[in-house]
Amino acid sequence: MSNTTNHPFRKKWGQNFLADGNLLDKIVRTINPKNTDSILEIGPGEGALTERIYPKVKEMAAIEIDPMLIEHLKNRDSLKGLQIVHGDVLLQEIETIPINNPVRVIGNIPYNITSPIIFWLIEQLDFWDDAFIMMQKEVAERLSAKVGTKAYGRFTVVVGAYLNMEYCFTIPPDVFIPKPKVDSAIIRFTKKEIPIVPDEKYVRFNKLVATAFSQRRKMLRNTLKAWNFAESVKERIDFTRRPESLTIEEFALLIDLHSQ
Ligand code: SAM
Repeated sequence: MSNTTNHPFRKKWGQNFLADGNLLDKIVRTINPKNTDSILEIGPGEGALTERIYPKVKEMAAIEIDPMLIEHLKNRDSLKGLQIVHGDVLLQEIETIPINNPVRVIGNIPYNITSPIIFWLIEQLDFWDDAFIMMQKEVAERLSAKVGTKAYGRFTVVVGAYLNMEYCFTIPPDVFIPKPKVDSAIIRFTKKEIPIVPDEKYVRFNKLVATAFSQRRKMLRNTLKAWNFAESVKERIDFTRRPESLTIEEFALLIDLHSQ
């Protein structure tokens, strides 16, 4: 297995390229692209996944940050007509990408920006239908963690208030060039029909949950002191509890009662 362009791998951009045909085919089967789909790919790299998906769909755009890879993608005959956007995905709005929305999002993304990309998705719920995101297995486990466990935290709660998550499969390091040190996983995100927290309370909810988990061994009465919750709220939710014991619905109740 070798990369086709011989460009240097840029660690700062999380470049680990998929280089196993069988695995790529398995990802395509999992995504199940249809000829009515508008697909947005994050970080196409050399286009290993792109070239398998693009011929099967109505239209497709790909956002890539590395100028050398942009040149490579533009020169590939099999990708003629692909909408190639050069830039940082986190600074893009799906609405302005030149394909129809809602899109289906796919991406073997740089792992160091996994959470910003998931929050980027949450901030643009109207413009996508589902998202297949590859990430470090440990991060996937944090996302799907059960209340009361060590892995349950801010990420689990905030993401879980808006998105459903389906663990598709685990990917070992040896299908990438260069090999990462960790196992990976593909997760399919869909949107909750009714978000547990209304959109307009997202920012405050995020802040509340982050504050509660900033010192996860401490009780809510200490970490949330500055929020000045009324005594009536504390009668409904015991403030001697620690954050990892609260369900997503209980955090949602807290932000609801605080706003009243
Ligand atoms: N999809 C390719 C594959 O599977 O072989 C490449 C995956 S590699 C893990 C991540 C890709 O995302 C790289 O091509 C990298 O240059 C690109 N990338 C990194 N940061 C980015 C950003 N902020 N916005 C868009 N693309 C980015």
